[in-house]
Amino acid sequence: MSNLIEVSYTGDLLAHRRCARAWAYEKHVGIHPYEQVQAMEGFLIHHAMQWLTDQFRETSAHASEDNLKIQLERYFLVLWARGIRTTFRSKADTIGGVIRHLYADGTPRPEVRAAVEGAIHEEYPLRSVRKVVPELYGGVELYGGKDKVLLTGVLDVVIQQKGNLTYPLTWRWTDKAKLLGEVTEVSDHAQPGDREIWDYKGTKLKNNTARDDYVKQVVTYAGLLRERMELPTRCVLFFTNEERSSRRLLSIPVDDEVVEASIHWTLQQVEHLRRTVLKFQQNPNLVEGGALTKQHLPLVERVDVDLKAQCTACSQRFDCKTYRAYLAQSGNYGDGSNHPDVALTNVEKN
Ligand code: SF4
Repeated sequence: MSNLIEVSYTGDLLAHRRCARAWAYEKHVGIHPYEQVQAMEGFLIHHAMQWLTDQFRETSAHASEDNLKIQLERYFLVLWARGIRTTFRSKADTIGGVIRHLYADGTPRPEVRAAVEGAIHEEYPLRSVRKVVPELYGGVELYGGKDKVLLTGVLDVVIQQKGNLTYPLTWRWTDKAKLLGEVTEVSDHAQPGDREIWDYKGTKLKNNTARDDYVKQVVTYAGLLRERMELPTRCVLFFTNEERSSRRLLSIPVDDEVVEASIHWTLQQVEHLRRTVLKFQQNPNLVEGGALTKQHLPLVERVDVDLKAQCTACSQRFDCKTYRAYLAQSGNYGDGSNHPDVALTNVEKN
């Protein structure tokens, strides 16, 4: 029997932080995860950047939008065969969305052009094993008798060739031990030979918990990758849904201190996740909905704008106390169960 607990950074850790209840039902009852659409988009964007770079190296010209579309349609089938699904969007919509993030008016967006012309991209499936100390939670073994965690993720290792890329925004660490920081409008510039870790987020750059989690995620990736190669020069988050170039690339400086703190934080998240699993196995009603960081707040305050986008399509919304409380305060919907999002008589949606 395997001695490993496998944990995906985006599919488990970040999804669990967004809403432990939705994650637990998805993971343990087998309902299609909400984040699969994001996972599909993420895989397609990683692949597109690598393919566009390869094409540019082979031909010294940028691939046409039509050829990118053909390539993404092929790769979509590969992902589909691997079990990655788009739950709420069609294949055409998903691929169209990815192309719009990367191309405008038939040509690559400026930052995509610079990244493709100046760097070598290599998609890297991360699989890193960390030892965990066995402990009891409610009299039960927290890690199910296992003593290792296998963290998985996908990232791009990028090696700058020309140094023609400017990152308009830089992350400034304000407390490295606590992993606190902020986005500053200070630009950073790539130098030839710089080694970077990139991750693509199909969202906008917002000042919220999700953004801060993304920063911790890439810095953790840097730390895990450090076991095989030297620490990268920087990490880069590419917010593909931002229209303005000045908001799309965020440079994140890394050093040993933030890397160690991020790995420690990540293993703490695994611990929280395992507690959710044990509670859920004991009684699913013990796991309440809402953002993990807001569990100390009243139900109504646990749903923010980002989570609302997930709630409205969540398979578990009909009997979710948290979402009902949120809906109840948004109008004349009693305890929330009359709201069109969850009313079973609303046959058009539900
Ligand atoms: S409806 Fe929202 S709060 Fe409730 S389980 Fe689903 S995602 Fe979580």
